[in-house]
Amino acid sequence: MLQRVLIANRGEIAVRIIRACKQLEIETVAVYSLADRDSLHVQLADEAVCIGGNAAADSYLNKENIISAAVNTGAEAIHPGFGFLSENPAFAKLCEDVGIVFIGPTAEVIEKMGDKAMAKRLMREAGVPVVPGSEGEVSLAEGQRVMKEIGVPILIKASAGGGGRGMRVVRDEAGFEKAYYAAKQEAKAAFSHDGVYIEKLIENPKHVEVQILADRYGNVLHLGERDCSVQRRNQKIIEEAPSLLPMKVREAMFVAAIKAAKHVNYTNAGTVEFVVSGDAFFFIEMNTRIQVEHPVTEMVTGIDIVREQLLIAGGRKMKLSQKAIRSSGHAIEVRINAEDPRHSFRPSPGLIEMLHVPQGLGIRFDSMIYTDYEIPPFYDSMIGKVIVHGFSRLDAIRKMRATLEELVIEGVETNQAFLQMILMHPDYVKGNVNTGFVLEHLKGLLAYEA
Ligand code: ADP
Ligand code: ADP
Ligand code: MG
Repeated sequence: MLQRVLIANRGEIAVRIIRACKQLEIETVAVYSLADRDSLHVQLADEAVCIGGNAAADSYLNKENIISAAVNTGAEAIHPGFGFLSENPAFAKLCEDVGIVFIGPTAEVIEKMGDKAMAKRLMREAGVPVVPGSEGEVSLAEGQRVMKEIGVPILIKASAGGGGRGMRVVRDEAGFEKAYYAAKQEAKAAFSHDGVYIEKLIENPKHVEVQILADRYGNVLHLGERDCSVQRRNQKIIEEAPSLLPMKVREAMFVAAIKAAKHVNYTNAGTVEFVVSGDAFFFIEMNTRIQVEHPVTEMVTGIDIVREQLLIAGGRKMKLSQKAIRSSGHAIEVRINAEDPRHSFRPSPGLIEMLHVPQGLGIRFDSMIYTDYEIPPFYDSMIGKVIVHGFSRLDAIRKMRATLEELVIEGVETNQAFLQMILMHPDYVKGNVNTGFVLEHLKGLLAYEA
């Protein structure tokens, strides 16, 4: 059992992880940038260490300072949260080298799955259906050859990609070269690695993913799936569990996801992501970390995924069995961002002048904001997540609408009204949603009263 854990992250996920640690009576060490010195995670942890300046590169991405903080405070393990260093194999390796437990899979597995082109090759080997495309990273000429082979439309994707960045659609062959260099440039800037690969563009798919838990003794379980099709620019906005796919398809995905995890000797929590078209599903990537939308799975299964992560990392054998994992009712999560949808969703940092959070049965608010908290301009615009659990999908939709109606965040612009428009949309209510939904209906979704 772990005694003391350092949380190498900020924001709502740092608060979420601290909470799980406290429940297990594990001591916590927070790290923070100068801009975050008044943050909730700093106040809640047993100890807090400043690891550098405002820029993420100086603080939350500063491997050496984070490792030093862990060593100096006697933390035996590091939870990386999501984003930042969570999928950085060099950081996981550094932890391994100095004898600190990295709460996630091994550096080797992170590296294998983090290279998305290589991960696809491994998955094909394992017999998991993947999106047709190149065998790995491609040069301009190889890319053109693959494009001719599989036919447009195609997607050019960064092999180091994440957060929906580094992707370009090519609909006519003449546009390939320009898109190729644009994708490379964006990948270089965002991930310091400009390798790209090619995938067939699946038109208006659903995004459905399977949550996995694996211990160090070869036990691999799935916790069912989440539908994350409501996206803007390939970034999720609303997620739910379960999906509306037929049972037969869901079960085939569970089998594929477990096969995927077993093939790479996966340990800890992870998510296998698929795009789905009709009854056909294709692997796109595995996220080797806790995901933003994990709470919807927690709501329907009653399993605390971060708690499981901590227990697995502490060396415990999973007591759960697949048969005992049941899903009940329906859960929905919305991501609350400090941004202005009417101005191209530009970030809107600043002072929270007033916060009122609704309470009720099956309502959860994962966040780090409080009245008088100043949202710094240096990081992601996500300031919280509202999660609701209902007995049916419609019940959950109605509960979410009522909850958002009551939620008050004053002082900064947020996407709250925009989310409400999605929840009111007849196609959303019918479950008639794919990854093109937001763009297709954008004008209407922005037509809320200010
Ligand atoms: P999830 O895959 O958990 O649904 P996202 O893909 O939106 O969530 O990513 C979670 C968070 O981590 C977001 O804040 C996103 O901006 C950030 N993120 C994801 N991948 C990367 C990456 N490779 N580099 C930097 N930030 C990332
Ligand atoms: P990231 O690492 O940025 O999360 P993913 O590979 O998971 O990248 O893709 C992000 C999103 O982009 C998916 O959820 C989906 O909406 C879209 N996408 C990715 N690959 C394809 C594809 N081959 N066809 C259609 N849409 C895709
Ligand atoms: Mg993804």
